[in-house]
Amino acid sequence: MQRLWIQAMPAVDLLVKNGRLILKEQIQQTDLVIDDGKIVEIGHSKPGLRADRTIDAEGNLILPGCIDIHVHSREPHGVHTAAGQEDFQSLSQAAAAGGYTSLFDMPVTGEPPTTTVEGFRIKKDIAEKRCLVDYAFYGGAGFGNLEEIEALADAGVIGFKIFTREVPQGKDWRGVVVGEGGSEMFLERLKARGEVNLAAYYRSAPNASEFLEISRSIGFARSVGGKINIAHLSTAEGLSMVREAKAVGMRVYAETCPHYLLLTNRDLVERLGPYGKMYPPLRSDHDQEELWRGLNDGAIDFIATDHAPHPKETKESGWDNIFEATAGVPGLETALPLMMTAASEGRINLFRLVEAMAERPAEAFGISRLKGALKAGCDGDFVIVDPKRETTLRENTMFTRSSAKVFDGRRVRGVPILTAVRGEVVMEEGDVSGKPGYGKYVFAKGEKS
Ligand SMILES: [Zn+2]
Repeated sequence: MQRLWIQAMPAVDLLVKNGRLILKEQIQQTDLVIDDGKIVEIGHSKPGLRADRTIDAEGNLILPGCIDIHVHSREPHGVHTAAGQEDFQSLSQAAAAGGYTSLFDMPVTGEPPTTTVEGFRIKKDIAEKRCLVDYAFYGGAGFGNLEEIEALADAGVIGFKIFTREVPQGKDWRGVVVGEGGSEMFLERLKARGEVNLAAYYRSAPNASEFLEISRSIGFARSVGGKINIAHLSTAEGLSMVREAKAVGMRVYAETCPHYLLLTNRDLVERLGPYGKMYPPLRSDHDQEELWRGLNDGAIDFIATDHAPHPKETKESGWDNIFEATAGVPGLETALPLMMTAASEGRINLFRLVEAMAERPAEAFGISRLKGALKAGCDGDFVIVDPKRETTLRENTMFTRSSAKVFDGRRVRGVPILTAVRGEVVMEEGDVSGKPGYGKYVFAKGEKS
């Protein structure tokens, strides 16, 4: 009879056996069972359980799929972002290769920008055809589109991006401009004096300018009572503002990026040149130390990549005049191996890493019923990491269409070897097999946080 019962059991879609699962408070060697896109069980699977596919993860770690809350596709393509640059397909291939299963795309690096419901729909139509991991979009919020804000929220934006400096040139949209006494002033003075070498970039946006921008932003958040995330935190001074706001109970979150944790301005000046130019600039050893401290004690909530792809040609001009190069570096294919390497060196523990790259993003953005943790009922989003494998990051093996010199040649230990989105394997041993259009929009509606 028992045998008949087993035969009558329908097969589940996916069984991952013997991996070391990083759960909320423990690492457990057990099985992960996924059916219909959802995690249905965590625990030793019943003998005889049939699965359409079984993966042996013995010796490897299993993390919840990473969620990048800060990426820039170049979609929709337009005058300033010609076709051939990063699109949702190359972006999400890079994500799958790097262990990311959800991406939140920023609003003003495509044309039209996501500052109207129409702009939102146009971008969503494109992502529905091309994205192979899940995604959501920010809306842009500024004086130019006040009448669109509520409709954008209803349409399903995951949050709003508010600028503390001038929106990049050429965008047909007026953003909030605050902190104009900060970096713009420094920038104009340097240019007027002809100081355009590599070292000048840091001085165009010194630590004080970030401090001013963050204090202004936190002041606004305080007056309206909303949740706010400080994007790409890079300085000790900025971090101290975040700490103070948290201490008085404000809902202030902060993200930093692997490049601020692992590089300093010296790397730009001595080695990377314009390939190390992003906004804000790389900082000092002291800032870096403080960022690690903030990440480890929870003052910094998220690790995001600020994946900002740019073709090589737009970087090269920066060797002679750093202000002519585009600002931004890719990060989707390097962030997890870099952070796993940091974990192997004892600079961050694995629970904190998973919190910062998956769990906290899901909680803060109201999608934790679906994403961010290995638990029954959640989407079957996970990444298998071989914690012992060592490799060298190479620009020429990456899926991003960006120049990626920033971490080219860097040795890492701890490599994502399989990524699954809702139970579907989208990357295995570096081969991205996910189908364009498989990715779905992630709606936060319906969850209180
Ligand atoms: Zn950005």
